[in-house]
Amino acid sequence: MTSLVLGLLCCIQPVSIHANGEFAAGLSPDQIALCRSAVVLAEARMGQIFPWLHTHSQPLVRFFPAGAPGGNASPWVGGIYHATDHRIDIQHVPVLVSQGRLEWTVQHEYVHAALALTGNARLPVWLEEGSAIYLSAQALDETDHSIKPARSIARLEAGFRTYGASRNQAAWIHLKTYNRQARSVVAALAERNGLEHFTGFLRTLKNGTPFSQALASWYSLAPDELSAWL
Ligand SMILES: [Zn+2]
Repeated sequence: MTSLVLGLLCCIQPVSIHANGEFAAGLSPDQIALCRSAVVLAEARMGQIFPWLHTHSQPLVRFFPAGAPGGNASPWVGGIYHATDHRIDIQHVPVLVSQGRLEWTVQHEYVHAALALTGNARLPVWLEEGSAIYLSAQALDETDHSIKPARSIARLEAGFRTYGASRNQAAWIHLKTYNRQARSVVAALAERNGLEHFTGFLRTLKNGTPFSQALASWYSLAPDELSAWL
């Protein structure tokens, strides 16, 4: 999920299909070119980070000038990954472009797509989101400290579960804090033994290994020790 300001949701069907995406009416040629290069970049970067995915098909990426059809995505959110048909919808493209968020929004959703193809088990939400934020080099709001940080990994996970499904501004403000926390734990893990080691850890989890067992075998850490990094 990515945050951005406003935009009412509406329904526009995509009308033009190109090799690197599907573009709804209302996007300018310049915007379409930026979207297409964002997809090329995301495919290249995520192909490096998740090299075993080369044998899988790339997700379909659809771009919309306003809200993606379906209408159930929060207007605060720039991108949505749909695992059911391996599709990424990027909405409010002109806003993303003007705020310099298009490239990492596409990459963030590619991380979700890559993780979905890696295995069927679910990651903790903080780890899934923290990975998408960290691996896409997403810019976060570093200035809003109105919400107290979670003091344990369990509370961080509970925070994501409580506010991740909401679509109001209060939830969005809570997630600013939790996103920063999730990114910092992921960064600490990824920088401890390198990215390849970290994605190996994720892969083990996606194959169904319990979290504490995977954390012990890849990092010699107990879940409680991660809380100290918050
Ligand atoms: Zn996300």
